[in-house]
Formats: sequence, C-alpha cells, structure tokens
Amino acid sequence: MNYQGRVSPGTAQGDPSPIETPTLSIVIPAFNEAEGLSHLYQHLGSSLSETAVSWEVLFVDDGSKDKTWNEICRLCEADGRVRGLRLSRNFGHQSALLAGLAHARGDAVISMDADMQHPPELIPALVDAWQKGAKIVKTVRIDPEDLSWFKRVTSNGYYRLFSFLSGVEIKEGMADFRLMDRQVLDNLLQFKEEGLFLRGMVQWMGYPSVEIPFECGPRFAGTTKYSLRKMLRLAWHGVSSFSLVPLRVAIMTGLV
Ligand code: UDP
Ligand code: MG
Repeated sequence: MNYQGRVSPGTAQGDPSPIETPTLSIVIPAFNEAEGLSHLYQHLGSSLSETAVSWEVLFVDDGSKDKTWNEICRLCEADGRVRGLRLSRNFGHQSALLAGLAHARGDAVISMDADMQHPPELIPALVDAWQKGAKIVKTVRIDPEDLSWFKRVTSNGYYRLFSFLSGVEIKEGMADFRLMDRQVLDNLLQFKEEGLFLRGMVQWMGYPSVEIPFECGPRFAGTTKYSLRKMLRLAWHGVSSFSLVPLRVAIMTGLV
C-alpha cells in the first residue's frame, strides 16, 4: 500500500477497487478493540441499510496488540464492503483517523469510534442532513449522568481554554464523530502538517454545517484506550498548533 506524506505506514486488507465507488465511507480507528468489532459491525449493517446509500466501512488498526487485525480480516472476508488498514505501530487516534480518511473513497465520510460510544443508530440522521445540503454534520455528545467529575471538569475547561486562545470555537462534547462531504475532506487532506488536530481543523475550515446531539453510552467492551498521557498530548497538541500563546510564554520564560 502506498502512503502519501504524513500518512502512517502499514498494510491493507479488503478489495480496494470494487467496480462501484461507495457513496458513504465509515472510518473507524481501533486500538485493541477485538472484543467489540463484530458487535459494532452488526449495528453498522442495520443502521446503514436504513440509508439506501452504498457504503464501505474502513477499519484502521492502530498497532493493536490483541486480535483486532484478525477480526478486521474476518469481517473483510465475510463482507466485501469492509476494508482494513493496519498501521505498523500505535500512532495514536488522530493519526489513525487521518490515515483512514486518506483512504476513504466515498462522496461523504463519517468518522467514529469503535467502542459503540458513537452510536451507529445516528448514521441515518447524519446522512439525511448531508443529503439536505450540509457539508459537515457535527455531533455533540450529551454526557452520561455518571461521567466522572474529573473528566467533566477537565474536558469543559480545556475546550473553553482552546476556544479562548485560538478563536476557533469548539464546544464540549464535540469530538471526532462527524460526517464530512468529499469537498471538505479533500481540502482537509491538503494540509501536510504532521498530526492534525482534526476537531479543530474541521471547525476552522468553516463550511455550512449542522449539529446533532447524541447520548453517549458506556463503552461496549474493554477500557478506554486514551491513557492520561495520550489525552494530555492531544490537549497540548491542539492548543500549540492553533495558538501562538504557548510559544510566546515559552520564549518569555526562556528570556527571563
Ligand atoms: N484509539 C486509537 N488509537 C489510540 C487510542 C485510541 O485508534 O492510540 C481509538 C479507540 O480504539 C477508539 C477511539 O480511538 O475507537 C477512541 O478511543 P477511546 O474510546 O478509548 O477514548 P475515550 O472514549 O475513552 O475518550
Ligand atoms: Mg470511547
């Protein structure tokens, strides 16, 4: 498999050139998600059948240590609309997502998590909004009652800080569950920056968009794959790539 520029190295599974290019691509990064993929695939299948558009599902194995890749290969063999991309190591969620987006072929692409916290049942609503003209369909997570105090406060505080420093408004609960039109995706893929902070970039690009709220349930299987270290790295990367304030603070501190 040939990768361009910043897209991470790896291997591919599934037929890359069926005669018909699908209307919709679903891109799903997965890191140690073997337990839940089959359940997710079943829900995807029934939700996608409601949309009456042709589709492909592209799983991106982000260097999993469990049987995630075996599961992806099994699904690819059972259903020609499933494709898999295997990265050579764990590059992190944002890079895995970007690799998947670069290989998606649809006129519209939906990105979502592999753990059922982004409900496949919302897909028909996303497609409907796109068919009515939205170039980007964002989702806004309504947090479950039992979300930890720590996660609620840190996430809310971070997005306020990000919006204040960068001038790009991201609401709390807006993550990487969204639909993008091909035009938006092609523009996004032109940025050659290493490790894009996708939720910031999509917001910054400013296409006509709509928002759909959804209730975020518990993980279907396993535990969070976002360690505190990965979360902090993402948070820092987001702010430092959208605002000069951290750089100025570093320079001033160095001078002092
Ligand atoms: N993920 C990934 N690479 C990583 C960490 C996470 O591809 O290094 C995937 C993970 O498999 C899931 C999505 O990113 O599909 C979001 O991760 P998770 O659900 O663990 O995050 P949380 O919902 O706890 O913030
Ligand atoms: Mg999750």
